[in-house]
Amino acid sequence: MPLRALLYRRQSEPSAINIVFEREVYLVRVRRHRQARRYTLRIHSATREVVLTMPPRGSLKEARAFAEKHGGWIAARLTRLPAPAPFAHGMLLPVRGVDHRIVHRAGARGTVWIEADSEGPCLCVAGEAPHIARRVRDFLKREARSDLEVASRRAAEKLGVRVSRVSVRDQSSRWGSCSTTGVLSYSWRLILAPPYILDYLAAHEVAHLVEMNHSRRFWRLVERICPDVTRAKTWLDVHGSNLHRYGLTHERR
Ligand SMILES: [Zn+2]
Repeated sequence: MPLRALLYRRQSEPSAINIVFEREVYLVRVRRHRQARRYTLRIHSATREVVLTMPPRGSLKEARAFAEKHGGWIAARLTRLPAPAPFAHGMLLPVRGVDHRIVHRAGARGTVWIEADSEGPCLCVAGEAPHIARRVRDFLKREARSDLEVASRRAAEKLGVRVSRVSVRDQSSRWGSCSTTGVLSYSWRLILAPPYILDYLAAHEVAHLVEMNHSRRFWRLVERICPDVTRAKTWLDVHGSNLHRYGLTHERR
């Protein structure tokens, strides 16, 4: 939770409320905002989070009434978002742009590995069923980090710059970022996309080590080390938001 939200949260006030609309329960996060003049609702499409912003002196009772009044809007907006695709046995999950079926191998040794059967590539997961989701997520993060590490170093070599560290996170607002100290952060979800997308993001962030802006000079650098800039940007515009639904559980209650 951002510090600002903490400051304006009254003590013992819950950070979220549940509202009911047509027998469905929706979790609504509540945030006080110093500049807010009225109650507003927003839905983050990547995380499916419903956030209600209220004035510093607003009351939780009014906030609840406001959210309930707009229950229909919340329900309609959430239904229109891409459906969450929790990691589970039998689901199809793109890995490096290729669909893999998740197969639970309860009795097998090991954790997560890729193999192919007659129906195509599978992501096999050992262990108990309740651990499938976490194991798949950990595996994807590891793979993402290793691919991004390689792609970033390759791009850095071409531009003659140094990457100090590569980290992967679950950032919903952007695919990558670059600090002035040379730390590159990426969304692990890039491992779900075709490899040229991940290569483009690496080229983009590494180019920021030279040009900390989006000037024409910056884009010329990116194009010099990555042949697929336009294709990758178009792919992200069209399919990017779809990557966020993988691994989400149903309503995040
Ligand atoms: Zn950028």
